[in-house]
Amino acid sequence: QLQASRCAGCGIPLHSEDPKKPGFVPASSLDKEEAICQRCFRIKHYSEASSVTVDQDEFLKLLGGIASTNSLVVHIVDLFDFQGSLISGLQRFVGNNPVLLVVNKIDLLPPVTNWNRLRNWVQKQASEEGLKVVDVVLCSARRNIGFDRVVEAVNSLRQNKDVYVVGATNVGKSTLINRLISDYSDLKRELTVSRYPGTTLDAVHIPLDDGKSIIDTPGIVYSWRMSEIIPRKDLAALLPDKPLKPLTYQLNEKQTLFFGGLARFDFVEGERQSFTAYLSSGLPVHRTKLERADELYEQHRGVMLSPPSLEDLESMPAWTRHRLRIPANSKQDIFISGIGWIQTNGKTGATVDVHAPRGIKVMLRESIL
Ligand code: GDP
Repeated sequence: QLQASRCAGCGIPLHSEDPKKPGFVPASSLDKEEAICQRCFRIKHYSEASSVTVDQDEFLKLLGGIASTNSLVVHIVDLFDFQGSLISGLQRFVGNNPVLLVVNKIDLLPPVTNWNRLRNWVQKQASEEGLKVVDVVLCSARRNIGFDRVVEAVNSLRQNKDVYVVGATNVGKSTLINRLISDYSDLKRELTVSRYPGTTLDAVHIPLDDGKSIIDTPGIVYSWRMSEIIPRKDLAALLPDKPLKPLTYQLNEKQTLFFGGLARFDFVEGERQSFTAYLSSGLPVHRTKLERADELYEQHRGVMLSPPSLEDLESMPAWTRHRLRIPANSKQDIFISGIGWIQTNGKTGATVDVHAPRGIKVMLRESIL
């Protein structure tokens, strides 16, 4: 008489009858030593599969299936790269399913931030991009801020449905899903955030206790994001870890700021005024006169003006120039994907040029702060 073996992960009795019932394990693994149930197996292996990425076309194909399901869609965006990481076409693909917008990395904003105002800003920006959301939750997966609200919102909107989690790369999707898993499962251990690319394009199904799943879709790669075109080793310098320290510059027209060697900001025309830069602290700022800027770049790119290094520069697109006109009496952000943003404070308006690698998203937006 064999004693029913138990899952080495969660202790539930194992069986191989019904894949939908907890404790299921394929018959071939039933008698293995240290056998674990399918659910534990998936959770255990989740972090290896979680960093799969796809380009936009593949992603849209994959998303196409969501419309015909009855599910909750959780869209995670990165607050630091909001316009870079928002999936603006999401609405068309998810059909009538509700979208919960989870804005991650709020730990990067200064502690004095008015969170209600920020939520309104997020709602407005999302709707300008054509995305209708049932709710907006602000959180920091890394610092464990606002996570209760994420779980609460998912719980109240889910109503026994599957949960699809969608997002661009590096928005903190795996960090967040790992937290969701540990919250929803009786396995209290935390999983490591994996950095290794997986091998399959399939979405990863993580079973929940009620028989439904969290479905993690691959991270979409958007070529307009700086984080996708810089060398991997520079990514850490670009992804901020600590609250952004606002740097205020009093500039006269015809002055230039370099952000490492990744972008350049020229104050072309306007009355003397201040600009406040919110950048990752890994990015050194150099100030110079506009008339000297070209020469400075030629002489110092890849060395003083870095990242990127001189040899990595060769594999990056050349800069293009974006001319932006900031209207008078308006508080705007000059947004440069992956680098951060520069807040304008001028009463009288200004004309600025941003030089950034070709294809990188550069735009004016209503100020986030
Ligand atoms: P994924 O590619 O969307 O799965 O993102 P990851 O979970 O791998 O996270 C990408 C990067 O963002 C990692 O360096 C994380 O440490 C970082 N990250 C994730 N969540 C947060 C957060 O709440 N705040 C900050 N500052 N960084 C975060």
